[in-house]
Amino acid sequence: MPAITHHIPDEMIVAYVSGSLPHAFSMVVASHLSYCRDCQASLGAHRAAGGALLETGEGVAVDAGLKSKVLAALDAPAVPEPVYEAKGIYPGPVIHSLKGRPPRWKTLGMGVKQDILFEDSEGSARLLFIPAGQAVPDHSHNGLELTLVLQGSFSDETGQFGVGDVEIGDENLEHTPVADAGDPCICLAATDAPLRFRAFMPRLLQPLFRI
Ligand SMILES: [Zn+2]
Repeated sequence: MPAITHHIPDEMIVAYVSGSLPHAFSMVVASHLSYCRDCQASLGAHRAAGGALLETGEGVAVDAGLKSKVLAALDAPAVPEPVYEAKGIYPGPVIHSLKGRPPRWKTLGMGVKQDILFEDSEGSARLLFIPAGQAVPDHSHNGLELTLVLQGSFSDETGQFGVGDVEIGDENLEHTPVADAGDPCICLAATDAPLRFRAFMPRLLQPLFRI
């Protein structure tokens, strides 16, 4: 297993266990869990705690809001399960989502490519391919964004992210991720707002090439 230094926050593992995390984020969480023994241990602990709650929860009134949430969850796609086995660079949940096919890369410009794996009203999950030394295209950042590295690595103002590491970004994170030298960086990225890549603006990107 790779040496992982950036993990899934505990609250997010709890949300994953309870099934309340949007599907796109669950794909990233399940994929990170496929690599990470530490987070597998937290998952096990939260599952055990959740099971204990259910067993002792008799007599708890189920309100209408919860009931409709449960019913809505039944219609939602199944929570992706971590699969502790990777094929090539792709962890089990990504292979499952690709249905065994290779990614269908669509060019975004500057050698950057994407394959959208999943999209619904709550968010989207995509594979991103970023050539070594290239900055991640400028995109709007109005919600939560989880980025899991599957191959290569990238660096930004907050640190370096290698295989298995996950970066959590929100409106407060101002960063410029750049793929490190070596293999192209391939990531699984999920956002809760539709991600809209803007046209490349050479004027803004120019300083990046001098890094
Ligand atoms: Zn972890």
